[in-house]
Amino acid sequence: MRRGTRIAVIGAGLGGATAAAWLQREGFAVRVYEQARSLERIGAGIHVSANVMKVLRHLDAEHRLSQIGNHPDTFTSRKWDSGEVLFELPLGETGKQRYGASYITVHRHDLHAAILEKVAPGTIAFGRQLTAVQQNGDVVQLSFADGSEAAADVVIGADGVNSKVREAVVGPSPSRFTGAVAHRAIYPSTRLGGMQVRNCTKWWGPNGHILIYYIEQSRNDIYLVTSAKGEWHSQASWELCRREEVINAFAGFHPEVRTVIETAPQHSKWPILDIAPIDTWSRGRLVLLGDACHAMMPYMASGAGMAMEDAAVLARCLVQLADHAAAFALYQTSRMPRVSKVRRISAENSFLRSPTDPTWVFGYDAVNVPLGTQQY
Ligand SMILES: Cc1cc2nc3c(=O)[nH]c(=O)nc-3n(C[C@H](O)[C@H](O)[C@H](O)COP(=O)(O)OP(=O)(O)OC[C@H]3O[C@@H](n4cnc5c(N)ncnc54)[C@H](O)[C@@H]3O)c2cc1C
Repeated sequence: MRRGTRIAVIGAGLGGATAAAWLQREGFAVRVYEQARSLERIGAGIHVSANVMKVLRHLDAEHRLSQIGNHPDTFTSRKWDSGEVLFELPLGETGKQRYGASYITVHRHDLHAAILEKVAPGTIAFGRQLTAVQQNGDVVQLSFADGSEAAADVVIGADGVNSKVREAVVGPSPSRFTGAVAHRAIYPSTRLGGMQVRNCTKWWGPNGHILIYYIEQSRNDIYLVTSAKGEWHSQASWELCRREEVINAFAGFHPEVRTVIETAPQHSKWPILDIAPIDTWSRGRLVLLGDACHAMMPYMASGAGMAMEDAAVLARCLVQLADHAAAFALYQTSRMPRVSKVRRISAENSFLRSPTDPTWVFGYDAVNVPLGTQQY
């Protein structure tokens, strides 16, 4: 597309920030509108697998993140009560050779900051919650909750699971509570009093699971994230929760797990939401990426990775093709098969539980994959 094209990105999450950074490097006039007043350091870790590191490499953010992040030697699946090792996937140097980049675990805020650093200062307008989108001929009019307005030639809806842009693309399609909640806690590993925790382990139980890993190379902080059956009645995106709730949900788990839960000074709780599958990711001058078009269960630790890959492939399509409609069509053709597969396996919650070859996930390279081939 013409480089003067005004591109508005709605949402400065991991997908939106990646799209903004990439498109700006290509010379587009990018403006990002984010509803939050600022981006806070919420308590969450994240897996950044080799396929995601390749996107970061293109943005010159890989090195910095690699220095901060924890590089697990393996991803280990263990049985909830006995601790029996069900599967151990080699990562570290072996993974790097096999998949073309490192696999790290990191604080989510550090990942976000590393991407935002690549977005030109002043690009993001904070405190701007999109309330309406109107396409008038060749221009899209955007209205925000604070009464302000803006115009753009192309709008990328990277506004997450409760996307407003999605409404304008496919009509009402509210997010759904899946019946599962995720408990999270981050705390200094010194609190464990010298107990050795096996890094990057998923403990598989009959009614839930828990992942435990470090989020910095220094191993100063340990992180736990669970999935358990639960209810959600709040409008908030997360809330603090009593430690007893987590202890009860994981009673009977291996002593190592119980110690990590019991030692946490504070737990939070998050509803796990998804959306019904949609098969149209664009309409006119609007296009969706990430959770806005395929929010999924987080059981492959790949939702953000898919959003960032989407951003890379969409940007490549916009660079390659003069017409936005052709670019959006090429983008959807290129991305939908891969995202659908990840979504399906995430819902099954089977990934890496038993011997698995994950090369199709981690070996993928959104920067170089031929566009439109449905290759993954
Ligand atoms: C418990 C849990 C663990 C997870 N672990 C991992 C993991 O290890 N690895 C991984 O890859 N993924 C993981 N995920 C998934 C991942 O968090 C999401 O898939 C990812 O954040 C989606 O990115 P996004 O940019 O599409 O949307 P979001 O990150 O949700 O960003 C959307 C942005 O849009 C803004 N916004 C929303 N509405 C508006 C509006 N109307 N106007 C303006 N701005 C708006 C929001 O404030 C937000 O900043 C996990 C998810 C959960 C729940």
